[in-house]
Amino acid sequence: MDIAPLSFPDIEKSRPLVLAGPCSAETEEQVLETARRLVACGIRIFRAGIWKPRTKPGSFEGVGKDGLKWLREVKQETGMYTSTEVANARHVNEALKAGIDILWLGARTTANPFVVQEIADALLGVEIKVLVKNPVNPDIELWIGAMERLQISGIRQIAAVHRGFGSYEKGLFRNLPQWHIPIELKRRLPGLTLICDPSHIGGRSELILPISQQAMDLGFDGLMIESHFEPHNALSDKEQQITPEFLKNLLNSLVIRETSDSSESLNELRREIDEIDERLLDLISMRMSVAREIGRYKKQNNMPVLQPKRYEHLVTERLSQALGLELDEKFVELILEAIHEESVRQQIAVFNKD
Ligand code: PEP
Ligand code: MN
Repeated sequence: MDIAPLSFPDIEKSRPLVLAGPCSAETEEQVLETARRLVACGIRIFRAGIWKPRTKPGSFEGVGKDGLKWLREVKQETGMYTSTEVANARHVNEALKAGIDILWLGARTTANPFVVQEIADALLGVEIKVLVKNPVNPDIELWIGAMERLQISGIRQIAAVHRGFGSYEKGLFRNLPQWHIPIELKRRLPGLTLICDPSHIGGRSELILPISQQAMDLGFDGLMIESHFEPHNALSDKEQQITPEFLKNLLNSLVIRETSDSSESLNELRREIDEIDERLLDLISMRMSVAREIGRYKKQNNMPVLQPKRYEHLVTERLSQALGLELDEKFVELILEAIHEESVRQQIAVFNKD
């Protein structure tokens, strides 16, 4: 995919690129006062939702296109770039008319290819920056597919926003980070600008700093953070919004480790890792060849491939070994499961042969 990094002629290229502003535009005063205080804190890109996707009817669903006027005032008065969420072609047309600089597709929209295509069609040939939030469900193909649709419409500056993934269990996070997914995205699309939204991952203001730090440590390019001049009075997402001044302190306390991979001791450690990986693969390959041997034996002796008792025994033994090896139990379970699944697949292949 031919994607250009998100760039602004008058914003320094250093990490993190920050977008901040309220979850929702609520009143002209709230929008302008928040923007003035953000700009005083050094923030150059303003965000505010005008059309809000809400889980339940009757919640505050945004002020609609009235809010676009306020965003235009933000731009005129503070010189900030403005951004808002679009969820259909009408939103796109209104936002373009109002001169919004950056559009974003929300998590619920990315999950719906019909709507993404409608938005991509409305953007055909338009020069604008578009951010694509991850879909609510942990599906990297859906995320990439949405970006591809925009790219086919001629959008060049596309960035991905990691806002966490929905789950039935309510734990520490509002949306599970599942960091491996944005990491895999970056591996597959190395030039893509990757932004983390710690507000929607954490759901609580005290989690924003640790999540932002983790995103920086993982090499993310930017952060989208919800900020409101009076968080306790916010009409949506009040637990996760912070004041512009709190945001400034938070950004100042981030440790930005710049990536440089030239040190000799790091190279030495990496060589060690490569050797271990090589041995691991050799061992797995040996294990599979024994599994195929067992498959042939079971076939000759009319035994079924799956022997649940044997698998249980194997897992118990290995988990007790893991205890003494500083290995996380869940992690070991995951590896054993993957290896066992592949062994079964290979045994079935032996069964099906001649
Ligand atoms: C938002 O950014 O306010 C929003 C609704 O986010 P998401 O689509 O990630 O839920
Ligand atoms: Mn929000």
